[in-house]
Amino acid sequence: MHSIFYDRAKDADHAIRLASEPGAKFIGGGTNLLDLYKSGVEKPLRLVDISRLALADIDALADGGVRIGALASNSAAANHPLLRQRYPLLAEALLSGASPQLRNMATVGGNLLQRTRCYYFTDPAFAQCNKRAPGSGCAAKDGFNRIHAILGASEQCIAVNPSDMGIALTALDAVIQTKGPQGERRIPIGEFYRLPGDTPQYDTNLAQGELITAVDLPPSPFGGHSHYLKVRDRASYAFALVSVAAALDLHDGVVRDARIVLGGVAHKPWRAVDAESVLTGKPLTDDSLHTAAAAAVAGARPCRHNQFKIELAQRAVVRALRIAGEKA
Ligand code: SF4
Repeated sequence: MHSIFYDRAKDADHAIRLASEPGAKFIGGGTNLLDLYKSGVEKPLRLVDISRLALADIDALADGGVRIGALASNSAAANHPLLRQRYPLLAEALLSGASPQLRNMATVGGNLLQRTRCYYFTDPAFAQCNKRAPGSGCAAKDGFNRIHAILGASEQCIAVNPSDMGIALTALDAVIQTKGPQGERRIPIGEFYRLPGDTPQYDTNLAQGELITAVDLPPSPFGGHSHYLKVRDRASYAFALVSVAAALDLHDGVVRDARIVLGGVAHKPWRAVDAESVLTGKPLTDDSLHTAAAAAVAGARPCRHNQFKIELAQRAVVRALRIAGEKA
């Protein structure tokens, strides 16, 4: 029997103190952590309940951006007028994830921290998983690896990040606000997630006891021309085989700036910087779209069962950009 301590935090500082010991975990909506706890993947020694902290507000910032409290539910964020108006890409991504019931419970901070759905990670019957048990091996490498990474993987882990929201936030240059034992930090989302390397047990660069308090979105030039495209095995309640957050700043038909971020292909949201450069300064044409799509998957190294993702990702990039460009 695995015994566990449960504490309800009175405020952020109390939560951070309680969670600073190894083995402690924050719990907000609990939609991922409780599943993994029940299946024996996560074995926290202490759960620090942060669900009643005052961190759920969504507010306009003076610079034209928006601050989303870490405990805002995915539903609240997806339906908030400020976010729908200024960042429709984020609303689309949120509404493509999970089910309405889960979105009502899941928090924005928790969504950023959800763990991979690699079958071998979520089922402890498989002994080999470097993410769950460092040094044990990777069952996916020689196993069934249809849903796994084609970019940025390592010998130790080929898992992918499962978040839709994180893909859109990366395209929107979000900044993660945290508070921890060492003080406060503002972490650009590009520095928040990690590639697996030799330490796939770490998904992010958060320290023990570091609490996500909010996500800041800067003013965006991409509000008018963006699209989140998610390709999956069934129409809802499924994770992405490939997804694309496409955002364009168009002026007189010419791309002034672009963001192309892929999901379902890597251990973190995969920003395709070279593909963005292909488009910048040019009109959107069939030629530029296909050149950008090829650049987005340059260096891809598929596994035995997921070669199809290379073609799928390129088609998804072209389609997402086309739809983004045609929006009025
Ligand atoms: Fe574990 Fe990563 Fe290998 Fe999956 S891909 S079995 S998460 S080490």
